[in-house]
Amino acid sequence: MSTKTKKSPDNTHKLNRRAIFLRAPLALIILLAIFLAPQRSASTKEPPQDPAKGETEMIAPGVEVMKGEAIVRFDDPDPDRVKAFMDNAISLVNASGHRRIGPDNLNMLHIRSNMNTRALLNILSRVAGALYVEPVFVVHHTLTPDDTRFGELWGLNNTGQTVGGQPGIADADIDAVEAWDISTGSTSIVVGVIDTGVDFNHPDLAANIWSAPSSFTVTVGGQTITCPAGSHGFNAINNTCNPLDDNNHGTHTSGTIGARGNNGSGVAGVNWTTSIMGLKFLNSAGSGNTADAIECIQFAIQAKQIFGSGANVRVLSNSWGGGGFSQALLDAINAANSNDMLFVAAAGNNSSNNDTTPFFPANYNAPNVVAVAATNNNDQLASFSNFGSNTVHLGGPGVSVLSTTIGNTYSFFSGTSMATPHVSGAAALVLSVCSLDTAGLKNNLLNNVDPISSLSGLTITGGRLNVNRAIRACSAPPTPNFSLSSTPSSQTVTPGASASYTVTVTSSGGFTGTVDFSASGLPAGASASFNPPSVNTSGSSTMTVTTSASTPTGTYPLIITGTSGSLQRTTSVTLVVASPSADFSLSATPSSRSVMRNQSTTYAVTVTPLNGFTGAVTFSVTGLPRGASASFNPTSVTGSGTTTMTVTAGNFRGTFTLTIAGTSGSLQHNTAVTLTVTK
Ligand code: CA
Ligand code: CA
Repeated sequence: MSTKTKKSPDNTHKLNRRAIFLRAPLALIILLAIFLAPQRSASTKEPPQDPAKGETEMIAPGVEVMKGEAIVRFDDPDPDRVKAFMDNAISLVNASGHRRIGPDNLNMLHIRSNMNTRALLNILSRVAGALYVEPVFVVHHTLTPDDTRFGELWGLNNTGQTVGGQPGIADADIDAVEAWDISTGSTSIVVGVIDTGVDFNHPDLAANIWSAPSSFTVTVGGQTITCPAGSHGFNAINNTCNPLDDNNHGTHTSGTIGARGNNGSGVAGVNWTTSIMGLKFLNSAGSGNTADAIECIQFAIQAKQIFGSGANVRVLSNSWGGGGFSQALLDAINAANSNDMLFVAAAGNNSSNNDTTPFFPANYNAPNVVAVAATNNNDQLASFSNFGSNTVHLGGPGVSVLSTTIGNTYSFFSGTSMATPHVSGAAALVLSVCSLDTAGLKNNLLNNVDPISSLSGLTITGGRLNVNRAIRACSAPPTPNFSLSSTPSSQTVTPGASASYTVTVTSSGGFTGTVDFSASGLPAGASASFNPPSVNTSGSSTMTVTTSASTPTGTYPLIITGTSGSLQRTTSVTLVVASPSADFSLSATPSSRSVMRNQSTTYAVTVTPLNGFTGAVTFSVTGLPRGASASFNPTSVTGSGTTTMTVTAGNFRGTFTLTIAGTSGSLQHNTAVTLTVTK
């Protein structure tokens, strides 16, 4: 219902109407708070009002309206009625002005009164002829800042504008505007800018500079240094706690990370709000040495260890490089990793391949290093930028980048130095809403680039930073979901028999629904039932598949579907319906015989074939009393038939159970008879 115009940062405030059709002012107020809740956080990012556009008032939490203004619509298009209503209303509410909005025959009037807004709404709603009355809501373009030079920041929002004489290609940018829908940053995330320092007095940076919560003491380079409360970082050149920039470079990179956004002036950083810790080791000419760089890292680690959340350094931004491999610097970078700090580093400006000509610190093989190439406003690799399919991770905007420079100025700079803070800033913006460790943060940034052809084969990811994709990838609420599994994967039955499977529901993302089951793919004459018929949230059900005698033999893939509202998940099992295997049964008659000692008797043992059995069955018997013997005639039966078991008793009297076994290959069946030996 609101109007959000992302593409025109010049008009920050826009009045808009909301069509909420209510008569009773009390109900109006209550419902507004509910309807507009999602707008609250956006609105609070904004200055409460723009005095040039008239006074505003909060009539409910997060609901900003124009003070003493109302929109009224009434029920009759007749011009005389309109005029009568207007005169009545104007006098009742002591209106200083009114204007018609919309087509004439709609008769919607915008009335301005010196009453407070609630009283105004209350009175107007009771005027005869009022169809509805509503306040004039203030709607902000919350997501594009009002910074006067925002339109030149093609890296954050490329609309195709010409920058540095080069027409851009729309959306060859990091999608910062879209990301700002999710977050515009947080002061709780500290970015250490290891550079020429930072002009912490710059009006577009001052509010986003880290300040020591209290006096503290670090030991850096063998020296004990006590920094006062309110200091903004470290100067490794003179070992002081004053990182003031005397070059411009560090102030420029800082502005890309976190120039104050939406403060009506200058530029906006990737973060409108953040905390930048100045870590100066490059001098006024932009030169420094490895030892001082190590000291900057050590300072950041110690400050974090001392202050915890008061110096939550999660990102170190390094728009510098050169020299050879330094084990000491690599050790420091690894120490930063151990202290949960991403180490973002410029790939270098030599147009060279870092795979073959290492450029440090971008080339250090530490888990927290992210090496950044530079792209231009056409998504081409900058002519000066280093690259490396194995050593440079991604690209970022680095040609004609406007940002803060010392003494309240702004300048366009180009370099992988400018691409780097786009990535550092993106890291901080992601961390403002996502709980990620350093490895997770790095993966998040690298897995959510925009693939671009100019970086394909020249960087590890083949893509350019996209902070919107990154922040949405980790901030999206978990989707309630469930999965189905089943066991065993296959069952074999004969026609007419049943088989059962266990179907299990596993929920995720807070899923709490009821899952109903069905099965498809059943053969003719078969049916499936589930017990229980549904599962709530998670658990198992037993699926019993019952076949009939007429069910054709075959192999049937069964699809088991679990349905919960619009969610459907499936799992599959196999049902094999097979002809029963050939077999036989064994029986003996009579079941009982009585015989005198040393005499003989007989039983008839019959083989009955099943399922086409044609095998030869041989016989044996166990359980004979001592001294007794048994023989079978014939000794084997093929397919079907009867053999006569002759038992000759010995001298022992008693009643004995004889177990007769018929054996054919691996098949064996038994039957039992009783033998009683009398005197
Ligand atoms: Ca874009
Ligand atoms: Ca600004």
